[in-house]
Amino acid sequence: MISEKMAELVQNSSVIRAMFEEGKRLSEIHGAENVFDFSLGNPSVEPPEAVKKALLDVINDENSNLVHGYMNNSGYEDVREQIAGHINKNFGTYFQGNNIIMTVGAAGGLNVILKTLLNPGDEVIVFAPFFGEYRNYVSNFDGKLVVITPNTVDFQPNLQEFEERITARTKAIIVNTPNNPTGVVYSEQTVKDLASILEKKQKELGTSIYMISDEPYRELAYDGVEVPYLTNYYNNTIVGYSYSKSLSLPGERIGYLVIPKEVDDFSEVVQAANVANRILGYVNAPSLIQRAVARCLDSKVELELYNRNRELLYNNLVDYGYNCVKPQGAFYLFAQALEEDDKAFATRAKKYNLLIVPGSSFGCPGYCRIAYCVDYAMIERSLPKFKELAEEYK
Ligand code: PLP
Repeated sequence: MISEKMAELVQNSSVIRAMFEEGKRLSEIHGAENVFDFSLGNPSVEPPEAVKKALLDVINDENSNLVHGYMNNSGYEDVREQIAGHINKNFGTYFQGNNIIMTVGAAGGLNVILKTLLNPGDEVIVFAPFFGEYRNYVSNFDGKLVVITPNTVDFQPNLQEFEERITARTKAIIVNTPNNPTGVVYSEQTVKDLASILEKKQKELGTSIYMISDEPYRELAYDGVEVPYLTNYYNNTIVGYSYSKSLSLPGERIGYLVIPKEVDDFSEVVQAANVANRILGYVNAPSLIQRAVARCLDSKVELELYNRNRELLYNNLVDYGYNCVKPQGAFYLFAQALEEDDKAFATRAKKYNLLIVPGSSFGCPGYCRIAYCVDYAMIERSLPKFKELAEEYK
């Protein structure tokens, strides 16, 4: 018999699994080219050539002990040094190797840092809409997720409610910019306001409130929009980065945490995160891909391919009468459902073989997420279907 907690988690995972099964079923009936699956955030753009070359070079050039062996649980020292240098060059920071912990993607990094910080009952604040997995990651360590209601005008965080809901039990907040599911990038003003609220509340309550910046989409920002580097604004910031989207390597499971020396209890936090990496069973981030990414720090996927998808989808949907904020980053578009019940709307979309995810999965009912990390040609084929769907509501 599985645990009660797992039984509940399995039950809650059924929406995405059902969507996946539905995609397969529809493809068998209508042919894969007539099914438009916008449900998954799986990168469609190839990894840069530099990654393939780096992998081969690492295998050919380097001493196998240094490629396949056990290592410090935080990752290879030289790789961490190089990553610190790269961040410093781009964001004017002063990190060293000991500020970096290599992780099993952003998901691994978030679990490591939440295990490091949370006592049972500690509160973690997130802003709706948010990546649904945060619920599970926080519950893994018996934390309590506190959800701030969405600001559907522009999807910048609702700061007034945020300030009101910080309590003595608030241990951390998770921010995600560029955002999944809205594609919104937090402006510098938003970041400054967030930081000043946190500073004020820390002082008032005499506590430490850590800001965890979940950044798998940092490199995916369009039209030259700036994505502020959050450690430059608030001392208690810990960054979780991932190469899953910036290099299209989600299956390789590689990313890192940045723990600046300015965070409260720095030495203890770093030491605990190192142990958490080990005892959560990750032990260390995969070694071959650690070495490979260190050789392509300046590479990223061809952003223009996602940008073309974004323009095509956004411009046409708006034309058909859909209401959505133009995404500035990531590869998602968050559109208002054409009826109040977002789940009913997603079900109606399925009639046209359009697979989209109801906003309720992200804590924001009344909307739906359309992931445009797909083939341009598929978007072109899907447009008449989005149009017909909109016409049903006129
Ligand atoms: N955080 C957000 C907001 C995501 O969208 C994802 C994946 O889609 C993750 C974390 C997990 O990414 P990773 O593959 O690096 O674990």
